[in-house]
Amino acid sequence: MQESAPDHHPSIPRKTRPMPTRRATKIVATLGPASSEPALLEAMIRAGVNVVRLNFSHGKAQDHIDRAACVRAAAQRAGHEVAIMADLQGPKIRVGKFAEGRVLLAPGAPFVLDASRTEPGDIDGVGLDYKELPHDVKGGDLLLLNDGLIVLSVDAVRGEQVHTTVKIGGELSNNKGINKKGGGLTASALTAKDMEDIRTAMGFQADYVAVSFPKNATDMEMARQLCTVAASEQRHKPGLIAKIERAEAIPHLQAILRVSDGIMVARGDLAVEVGNAAVPALQKKMIRMARDMDKLVITATQMMESMITNPVPTRAEVSDVANAVLDGTDAVMLSAETAAGRYPLETVTEMATICAAAEAAEEHRLDADFTGQTFDRIDQSIAMGALFTAHHLGAKAIVAMTDSGATALWMSRHGIHVPIYALTPKVATQRKMAMYRNVLPLLMDTSADRDTALAQAEQHLKSRGIVQQGDVYAITCGEPMGAPGGTNMLKICVVA
Ligand code: PGA
Ligand code: MN
Repeated sequence: MQESAPDHHPSIPRKTRPMPTRRATKIVATLGPASSEPALLEAMIRAGVNVVRLNFSHGKAQDHIDRAACVRAAAQRAGHEVAIMADLQGPKIRVGKFAEGRVLLAPGAPFVLDASRTEPGDIDGVGLDYKELPHDVKGGDLLLLNDGLIVLSVDAVRGEQVHTTVKIGGELSNNKGINKKGGGLTASALTAKDMEDIRTAMGFQADYVAVSFPKNATDMEMARQLCTVAASEQRHKPGLIAKIERAEAIPHLQAILRVSDGIMVARGDLAVEVGNAAVPALQKKMIRMARDMDKLVITATQMMESMITNPVPTRAEVSDVANAVLDGTDAVMLSAETAAGRYPLETVTEMATICAAAEAAEEHRLDADFTGQTFDRIDQSIAMGALFTAHHLGAKAIVAMTDSGATALWMSRHGIHVPIYALTPKVATQRKMAMYRNVLPLLMDTSADRDTALAQAEQHLKSRGIVQQGDVYAITCGEPMGAPGGTNMLKICVVA
């Protein structure tokens, strides 16, 4: 599956690209046939993957369980934890499977989408995962397949069959998505399959659950409830990500954010529903809103698309990734690039380099973030105090001892060139924080008394080469130690 990059001419020295020393923006990589080999997965984690996305649109429950175990093992070998994000299929209208895996649709040809079809698809038509489609469309509607690469115009609906004519042709393969231009599909966000998949994902303690096609806050609250019930035994609390990919979700962004832990700018489906040209401005707005509300944001889809087949990205892709970083995204996501592409490892390496370069060029005006702001929580005020002080002192590091990760999250919502190290005794918190921009999560037992814990923290940072003698850092903790929400102390230290 995996192909190596073409050999370089022996007389030209192979260009060695040094790994960026530090990168604040996180990389989400989708797992698939091109990246499931354990050694490759480990190499991808070493090269910069922070979050692994399991796409529940493909594969069976057991496949995801096996893959999750494979990710945990690879992370262990690579020496740093990653978060696992279970991405639910949602009510995405998808075509079924084809006998040959794919067909080539020619413009002008008839093609039938048939909800009652059970046999595999062919050049004349294909079955549907989403059986409601014939009730949601009418003659004259435009259907966009595979993120808009293929366009079908609906001629008529006859019973369970949607008869169409191919307007824009191309290759159509198994389980590709279908959108209706302009939005307006009736499907509810959580299907019976999603509910089953939530149980599967909670079985392996997925750190994040991404909900596809939520229309409003109620869809997210429902997902939250299902996760809570499914994870009650393990007392596991996954982060909930709302994928913003429906036109209907845009007016409800604030309400959706309020009940979620973060959002995904799901540009693939969103662009089809609202039109390509509206997406860049929406991306900026969504990133700003998420950060203002202390929520996470992932920028997704086609970021390095050409690297599915090419060993280098296009100039436009480089700019797209860099601009998402400059917009303030927590994470940039890879989809088919790592799931089914020829260069999964090269893509991750390239993306990491682009992120680091964009961050280095960033100018931060932290003080502006505080103008006119008041904080009524002690822990949040301490977090902001650490940020402000570290920024003005030019500290080497900010260190947060955190149980739930909340302190690190607040700190990470502001642009600052000082890295944040989050020390937590909980591996689940450590994994979750893998998504937070500019936060490096580390595991440390904080059960000792305050002075011992502070000394241990410094030792921990020294042994990892994060700080050395003479360096200044700001550290926050709570007294008594280990009580969630108890951060009430800020100390400025000089390494002895
Ligand atoms: P998908 O979601 O890859 O599951 O479709 C992301 C998007 O629509 O951009
Ligand atoms: Mn989508």
